[in-house]
Amino acid sequence: MASDESPSSYRSRRAGTEVDPADPYEREAQTFPRLSAEMVARIATYGSEERFEANTIVFSRGDRGVDFFLVLEGVIEIFDYDEQSQPQVFAEVRERQFAGELDLFNDRQVLVSGRTGEPSRIVRIKRADFRRLVSSEPDIGEIIMRAFILRRVGLIRHVHGGVIIVGPAHSADTLRLQQFLSRNAYPHRVLDTERDPDAGGFLECFELKADELPVVITPDHRVLRNPSLADMADDIGLTENFDHETIFDVAVIGAGPAGLAAAVYAASEGLKTIVVESLAPGGQAGTSSKIENYLGFPTGISGQALAGRAQVQAQKFGARLAVSRAVVRIDCDAAPYALRLDDDSRIRARAIVVASGARYRKLAVPDYERFEGNGIYYAATAMEAGLCAGEDAVIVGGGNSAGQAAVYLAGKVKHVHMLIRGAGLAATMSDYLVQRILGSERISLMAHSEITALAGDRNLCEVTWADRKTSSATTRPIGGLFVMIGAEPNTTWAEGCLALDAQGFVVTGSAARSDADSPYSSSRPGVYAVGDVRSGSVKRVASGVGEGSVVVQAVHRYLHPTIG
Ligand SMILES: Cc1cc2nc3c(=O)[nH]c(=O)nc-3n(C[C@H](O)[C@H](O)[C@H](O)COP(=O)(O)OP(=O)(O)OC[C@H]3O[C@@H](n4cnc5c(N)ncnc54)[C@H](O)[C@@H]3O)c2cc1C
Repeated sequence: MASDESPSSYRSRRAGTEVDPADPYEREAQTFPRLSAEMVARIATYGSEERFEANTIVFSRGDRGVDFFLVLEGVIEIFDYDEQSQPQVFAEVRERQFAGELDLFNDRQVLVSGRTGEPSRIVRIKRADFRRLVSSEPDIGEIIMRAFILRRVGLIRHVHGGVIIVGPAHSADTLRLQQFLSRNAYPHRVLDTERDPDAGGFLECFELKADELPVVITPDHRVLRNPSLADMADDIGLTENFDHETIFDVAVIGAGPAGLAAAVYAASEGLKTIVVESLAPGGQAGTSSKIENYLGFPTGISGQALAGRAQVQAQKFGARLAVSRAVVRIDCDAAPYALRLDDDSRIRARAIVVASGARYRKLAVPDYERFEGNGIYYAATAMEAGLCAGEDAVIVGGGNSAGQAAVYLAGKVKHVHMLIRGAGLAATMSDYLVQRILGSERISLMAHSEITALAGDRNLCEVTWADRKTSSATTRPIGGLFVMIGAEPNTTWAEGCLALDAQGFVVTGSAARSDADSPYSSSRPGVYAVGDVRSGSVKRVASGVGEGSVVVQAVHRYLHPTIG
């Protein structure tokens, strides 16, 4: 058993700040566990003991492939840099405690640095051996995994090792960068140049002009001017380096629930697996504030939390994840298959699992594109809700995602106006949501209604809708318009290679090929489709996860036809 008799590992607490039970750094027994002597002895067999002088850098922010360190004697001080570039120690890893966090499971750049605070005796475990440790010693692996997840939550909460986005909080580009970092669990904060009193000084200090905003400022004070997501991901080390000559057993396109499930099962069953994801793990589910119908989570779970766990699980088993890169083409006649990415690189794999899901449908209203991200949103998470706090919100759509958004936003904004084209919700929405919507005083349901006009300067601030039966029009000042009217498949990259149905979904099973080896086989041998992107699929998290899990059996049969 691990015990927690250690002096506090989190510096601020000792400095006398108030204890906040929601702060993972304060949950010392889990976040900075002190292992038993028996566990330390077991761990030591996976690595080698080293002696460090005081003030030796053990690892630095920006390093990749950092090893696992367990302190036998002495201390590793974990630090980042303050705005004057001075090192600030925020945690200490002492005897029988270990350093590291989630980036030990991938090849990204680490976020913070570690140095010895006194002469120290430390066990170093190399990456490959660390993986072996986690899978062969499940009791220790569980403690490490929990600590790593909590440490990442702490880094995000305290913005340790993170970046600053400087720009108007409501601008589409600020939101684009913020969404990417949030959904990839990268520590960051936004300095709103329209509201934050410190913003003027910041702009002056970095010699920034308003038309250059937003910018991203890294801890070493580099300034990225309104970067593309791929450029930002490359710059801050979120992009993994991998050898483009590697031939993977399976490449998964998309890290939504279906793709992540395929990655977990493929990697855990020994297949060399890579997942290519254009934005962030979680897909559509990652934009859901609360999924209440996924088995095993009776009080619901946010899509992002579910995706975060699944990503760590896949990486724990050795799956590689290439985020911020989109597949733009598949070389169907190549053997092995080659996926062409939007940075002109390629990934080769013997089998492909297509899990590229779907993207939101838009409304045909004048000025719509101008307000996308500037008041028009497709997800209702804490971030979007915060942008319309104290104001009214309009939701368009009558499906479950619209229903969840209405219930969630009703607790966060002044009032929710829900617009549907039909007469009621019963045919399109789960009954539990219908009852909550009808029972809420803060939600008004507008049947037979559609948006006819949008107005605002830079941000959308007024919406007009019309009752199609009476032709009466209503105009309201609003803080946000949430468009939740379904989705179209992400398959333009597959045109000319895979058989698609009239709406563009991937045709699978016997409808795709007479010799299909699985219900998920596409028209090409060794290429499978799962989740929302598959023609005729049930568009749910659970079904996507189920399909992603079972397709791996077909992949095994394809790769090794002689086995069973
Ligand atoms: C707001 C909202 C709430 C929802 N709530 C629920 C709920 O409560 N319960 C429920 O069961 N279902 C819910 N759903 C539906 C559920 O989220 C989807 O059915 C599920 O996410 C589908 O999973 P998927 O993996 O098939 O595809 P997606 O989730 O669409 O994921 C596809 C992934 O592929 C990536 N991608 C696309 N094209 C490319 C490319 N060319 N290259 C690389 N990557 C690419 C995308 O960025 C995305 O991350 C909700 C959906 C939304 C939008």
